[in-house]
Amino acid sequence: MDYRKFTEEDFEFLRNLVGKERASRGESNLNIHSHDESFHAGYFPDVVVWPLETEEVSKIVAYANERRIPVTPWGVGTSLEGNPLPTRGGIVLDFERMDKILAIRAEDFQVDVQAGVKYQDLNKALRWNGVFFAPDPGANATIGGMIGNNASGVRTVKYGGTRDNVAKLTVVLANGRIIRPGNFAQKSSSGYDLVHLIIGSEGTLGIVTEATLRLAGIPDQFSAAVATFPSVEAATQTVYDIMAAGLGPAALELLDISTVKVINKEAEGNLKEAPTLFMEFTGTSDLALAEDVKFAESICADNGCTGFVSGVGPDERNQLWEKRHMAYEYIKRSNPGLDFMILDTAVPLSKYPEMVDFAVKTIERHGIKGYAFGHAGDGNLHLVIAGDFSDAAFCKKRDEANHEIVSHAISLGGTATGEHGVGIGKKKFMPLEHGESLELMREIKKVMDPNGILNPGKMIDLE
Ligand SMILES: Cc1cc2nc3c(=O)[nH]c(=O)nc-3n(C[C@H](O)[C@H](O)[C@H](O)COP(=O)(O)OP(=O)(O)OC[C@H]3O[C@@H](n4cnc5c(N)ncnc54)[C@H](O)[C@@H]3O)c2cc1C
Repeated sequence: MDYRKFTEEDFEFLRNLVGKERASRGESNLNIHSHDESFHAGYFPDVVVWPLETEEVSKIVAYANERRIPVTPWGVGTSLEGNPLPTRGGIVLDFERMDKILAIRAEDFQVDVQAGVKYQDLNKALRWNGVFFAPDPGANATIGGMIGNNASGVRTVKYGGTRDNVAKLTVVLANGRIIRPGNFAQKSSSGYDLVHLIIGSEGTLGIVTEATLRLAGIPDQFSAAVATFPSVEAATQTVYDIMAAGLGPAALELLDISTVKVINKEAEGNLKEAPTLFMEFTGTSDLALAEDVKFAESICADNGCTGFVSGVGPDERNQLWEKRHMAYEYIKRSNPGLDFMILDTAVPLSKYPEMVDFAVKTIERHGIKGYAFGHAGDGNLHLVIAGDFSDAAFCKKRDEANHEIVSHAISLGGTATGEHGVGIGKKKFMPLEHGESLELMREIKKVMDPNGILNPGKMIDLE
């Protein structure tokens, strides 16, 4: 696509529209919005704008569309695949200041928010109402960014990902038109599902300004458990057995031995250094919970479990999940001077043991340093590859391993990305994963964004 160069006249238009303080071409602002948390090379926008309301977004996008200026929405830039990088320059719309919780309707298990609200802040505000928004990616992401990437987290195994927890959206289309797909009902059979088309589209089909989210009740009772195993195979087989037994854990996470070692080192932990499962069960009574945990323990024992600690209190349980959430950060901290690529694939649950085994053996075969962990209960595997990315020989091995592992996940009936999105890094796998459906996706993109101004260079090319 041809884009027009951003001019001083465009800058003047934006400054007149939103005020001088909310449109910046300052070097540090451009720099902050040129990279996310991935290893992908940076791209600088021409201008950063901080909108306050839907109508402002609409006017900016309509202006950009008429003049063929790229527009890329930005949450807090914690993506891991280059998703919010402005590959063709233009306008970055930063949602930081659209951070209002508009209405809490706990009686309907719903909340209306602006796109820039961060999910951890939201849950702090919601807890007095006895409800919470369940999807919980490791980083304190915005709701807009979570919707963009269809993010999920440790509790997805019980509550689903972002896509399962959004009822209604306010979306600005590429021509500036505002639509409000969805409704407040618990279910609906009405019309094409535009809400779920937008979710996971990474800002390439429309820009979300507001959302109605579905909430869950905060459980009365919970119990966390940590189980260790003689091998990764035994741990992953246990994951399958726990899910197959219908135990319904609230979280079920795998950590390989290297990840456990890093957690112990960086968080002064005393976890047994072995392939490990972190689990959480929730319920309405102590008795029912105790039975679930006992059942889980017996499944672990059947798979040769070497240690099982359960019934930890609220503080220890929070620390446990904090450690899991921080795993990627701890890996980075314990490898100063190295660069990192984080692979994210998901496969059908029955294939999870095979997938983890394949991934671990692949990095061993290539002689690269890696750490495996992930949301095992939903078949989601992360593999962090650490190395010197200025070394061409290393990058060749890294890319070959990445290609083999992601292709293998797809061949098992899985996906190139369980939750981090396509961004820049996974675009090359789209034909392999989607086959003929990719052409329909391209047609949808052409209809919704004929000038290709929305987050260009991601997901799908118009040509
Ligand atoms: C330490 C760490 C741990 C992580 N753990 C997880 C995890 O467990 N699970 C998980 O899913 N992810 C995880 N992530 C990745 C990341 O946090 C999520 O993908 C998150 O949803 C990104 O949100 P963000 O606000 O940073 O959005 P950004 O990175 O700014 O943007 C994400 C995408 O959404 C688009 N977008 C942003 N705002 C809007 C909007 N208003 N309308 C339309 N599109 C928009 C952007 O253009 C981009 O394509 C982790 C990242 C880090 C650094």
